[in-house]
Amino acid sequence: MQYDVIIIGAGPGGIFSAYELITKSPDLRVAVFEAGHALNKRHCPIDGDKVKACIGCKSCSIMSGFGGAGAFSDGKYNITNDFGGTLFEYIGKRQALDLMRYVDEINMRYGGAGTKLYSTVGTKFKKECIQHDLNLLKASVRHLGTDINYVVLENLYTVLQDKIDFFFDTPVETVSKQENGYEICCKAGTYTCERCIISVGRSGSKWMERVCRELDIRTNSNRVDIGVRVELPAEVFAHLTDELYESKIVYRTEKYGDKVRTFCMNPKGAVVSENTNGIITVNGHSYEDPARQTENTNFALLVAKHFSEPFKDSNGYGESIARLSNMLGGGVIVQRFGDLIRGKRSTQSRIDEAFITPTLKATPGDLSLVLPKRILDGIIEMIYALDKVAPGTANEDTLLYGVEVKFYNMEVDVDAHLESCHKGLYVIGDGSGITHSLSHASASGVHVARDILKHLAS
Ligand SMILES: Cc1cc2nc3c(=O)[nH]c(=O)nc-3n(C[C@H](O)[C@H](O)[C@H](O)COP(=O)(O)OP(=O)(O)OC[C@H]3O[C@@H](n4cnc5c(N)ncnc54)[C@H](O)[C@@H]3O)c2cc1C
Repeated sequence: MQYDVIIIGAGPGGIFSAYELITKSPDLRVAVFEAGHALNKRHCPIDGDKVKACIGCKSCSIMSGFGGAGAFSDGKYNITNDFGGTLFEYIGKRQALDLMRYVDEINMRYGGAGTKLYSTVGTKFKKECIQHDLNLLKASVRHLGTDINYVVLENLYTVLQDKIDFFFDTPVETVSKQENGYEICCKAGTYTCERCIISVGRSGSKWMERVCRELDIRTNSNRVDIGVRVELPAEVFAHLTDELYESKIVYRTEKYGDKVRTFCMNPKGAVVSENTNGIITVNGHSYEDPARQTENTNFALLVAKHFSEPFKDSNGYGESIARLSNMLGGGVIVQRFGDLIRGKRSTQSRIDEAFITPTLKATPGDLSLVLPKRILDGIIEMIYALDKVAPGTANEDTLLYGVEVKFYNMEVDVDAHLESCHKGLYVIGDGSGITHSLSHASASGVHVARDILKHLAS
């Protein structure tokens, strides 16, 4: 089969490439290959009842399938260059923001209308944070919520399915260069295209490394973020989350000068486990629908580590810490802040007696046996700093889940068009190591689609 464009991966990057291509040029022959299931077939077996923990499905429905890693996420689209990726370094700050706003418009058109756009601009919390050595980053955040995010994906799929060939449960095995384009091989057969967009996200990181090796595309090592997910009563952060929804706060530790930051804040949300290539880590999300909300707020506290010489494998370092936690806890470990400070392992009875009910069933344990001292010291310092702007953060019963690891793909060498050294081969989204978020990944998809449309028109 011969296509004009083949897109590998149906996460936000791939979906927005497909959308832009087919709405602007309806006659284009476009195919999307996706390792995971169609949206309506994506079901994580963890039901909290019969299946309480990850059973390691062949294709993880949380990470893979139409909608990518973002399908069951909180659907927070952060419109900012301050975090979520470094797309602006390639395409310019204004262009990056314009594309993120364009993505937001599409999300509104396909089911997101009525959801709230929060902003940190002009907020009194900026000053309050600075007074306590905390830096509140600038951003607008559209919170779709897990439920509306799903509706938007359903609607986008309805528009795309008649115009594009979708191949689900079809991981692409190899990509090779031909005289006039690229050949894509998978179990279902061999397909060719003039232009190829690779958007395989974090779950495709190992595959992406192999493709880069085979096609001689240069890569650079990236950082890894390691930390914990904090869960506390929603009231503690309500003054911040009611106005800002998500506050991205950075703290520089006194002890080592390391930066610790809040990440992925989920007011009235739930903590969830996540399976990346067989390693169980922790994450969180929340629903827009009040009926599905919980009494707790959760967010991550992360420290970035970047290795370059002689050890380059930042992800390997993060993986080994996550594996250690999996070995000790059989999955995610949970510990009360009070127990951590006293050097005590949390027990089920102490968790049961706490004034907060955990939203994830995790193994009570001791995070100090898992996290490196420097990282743990930074997290503890930041909890005390946050306690000054959100009293109650450093409460004995505050729950810490570990470990949360944010793996970033190695950075693939691409130009301002996000095109690799091979003409017509684009690498976008989290798979490129350039983006780490829904908005940046989606924006990168639109960017390459427009570049392809420009070439076709000339
Ligand atoms: C639980 C959770 C919550 C999150 N919450 C948020 C949030 O609120 N806000 C935010 O900004 N970000 C959030 N994120 C991160 C966000 O989901 C990602 O940044 C975003 O999905 C990246 O988009 P992408 O298209 O680059 O990659 P992905 O979404 O990872 O999609 C890549 C797709 O490629 C497929 N694939 C991989 N290899 C192959 C192959 N060889 N052949 C074919 N297909 C392949 C995968 O199956 C996957 O479906 C969350 C992530 C998780 C896991």
